[in-house]
Amino acid sequence: MSVSTAAATAADRSVRAPLPVLGGDVTVPLVTGGEVAYAALDYAASAPALQRVWDDVAAYAPYYGSVHRGAGYLSQLSTDLFENARRTVAEFLGCRETDQLVFTRSTTDSLNLLARALPAGCRVFVFETEHHAALLPWRHAGVTYLDAPRTPGQAVQTLERALADREPHGPALVCVTGASNVTGELWPVRELAAAAHAHGARIVLDAAQLAPHHPVSVRDLDVDWVAFSGHKLYAPFGSGVLAGRADWLRAAEPYLAGGGASRRVARRADGGVDVEWHESAARHEAGSPNVIGAHAVASACRALTEAGFDTLVAREQHLIRKVRDGLAEVPEVGILSLFGDDAPRVGVLSFVVEGWNSSHFAAALSAEYGIGVRDGLFCAHPLVRTLLGSDPRTRGECGGPGAAPGATPLDAVRVSFGAGTPDEHVERFVRAVRELVRDGAKWNYRTQDGRCVPDTPA
Ligand code: PLP
Repeated sequence: MSVSTAAATAADRSVRAPLPVLGGDVTVPLVTGGEVAYAALDYAASAPALQRVWDDVAAYAPYYGSVHRGAGYLSQLSTDLFENARRTVAEFLGCRETDQLVFTRSTTDSLNLLARALPAGCRVFVFETEHHAALLPWRHAGVTYLDAPRTPGQAVQTLERALADREPHGPALVCVTGASNVTGELWPVRELAAAAHAHGARIVLDAAQLAPHHPVSVRDLDVDWVAFSGHKLYAPFGSGVLAGRADWLRAAEPYLAGGGASRRVARRADGGVDVEWHESAARHEAGSPNVIGAHAVASACRALTEAGFDTLVAREQHLIRKVRDGLAEVPEVGILSLFGDDAPRVGVLSFVVEGWNSSHFAAALSAEYGIGVRDGLFCAHPLVRTLLGSDPRTRGECGGPGAAPGATPLDAVRVSFGAGTPDEHVERFVRAVRELVRDGAKWNYRTQDGRCVPDTPA
């Protein structure tokens, strides 16, 4: 073998090797008998922990101590670890010198925190296509919901028009996703940020689905804030992140009132209390910080950076091609898309299957093939409504209206994967779809508590 062939083979191998994650050897029972290795294909909901994250957490666990309180050695060590995690994640996100990084519980928590920090009179602009976590936190403020665009260019135009027309022309915030949790399609974040800034608005990036798949740089994308969740970034220990401009955060009332957020508290002569709040990120981190969660997120950031996003993206694109090529051979399957077949995307695909309710299809994938996917409306009801052209309802039924021949589907199935997914999982998925559509389910299913489940004796 020549040196160049050997190098190409090694590069190919590195593209094809998944990162080690927990759960790879877990087997699950099949309703048809026997056991099979579980294929976790619901990364968009929660990704398995990276082995590296687990090892880092385990190595630290004996040294666990309180953060920002406590004079003991382990408290000091834990405080250092927490603050180092903040620096590592800020570096991972390409934060500016003056940015603040707040550890939260999740993306939902991060966006709700930002919603509480809006300056007076701030109007918020959100596409109807967002996940509910990005759609709903602003309802107490003035919010404009923008119609679903059909191309990335249309998204930019729609936003520009809405920002230009706003009355009065006061402070404004745009909230946009980096990658859709329904279609996996990438949004034109840099262009939307430029449009927002050109019209005197700020922008927060919901990177819940983007950060696990692509590098996210606050500086390069020129966004004002970014939010993501540890549990989607292979670090399921209860931490999320909000990072970005300090001014709104510093001016806002603390998200939670309590210890850690307050620098000084004193009784007043009239019997009340005066509080001096911190101006650092601690202002919005009241209560005992989740040091293990923050450490886990930092560990995942290091692991992904070391693996190299070029390599991770190449591998994921290879898996996406396998799934898309496989599903393309099954005419009964329709993939949901806003921007069209050629739109760049991450490893998240939703689809409908003619003649099947999604709950039934997902139940059969699980019970007969050991494959875990998600079905339903994916906390993005307006987007799914637009994509299906129907009034979506999670039916959870095995038969019913959506399964009738030619019926409009009521909800969808989502398959999603990432850095820890072996080829075999997506290959099994494609084979399972083909067999279920061709041969039907091998088992009977019934509706129970609004979900479709195998009909087994109690
Ligand atoms: N934004 C997007 C695009 C998501 O996919 C999700 C979760 O699925 C969220 C926000 C909310 O994330 P979390 O549930 O971790 O708060």
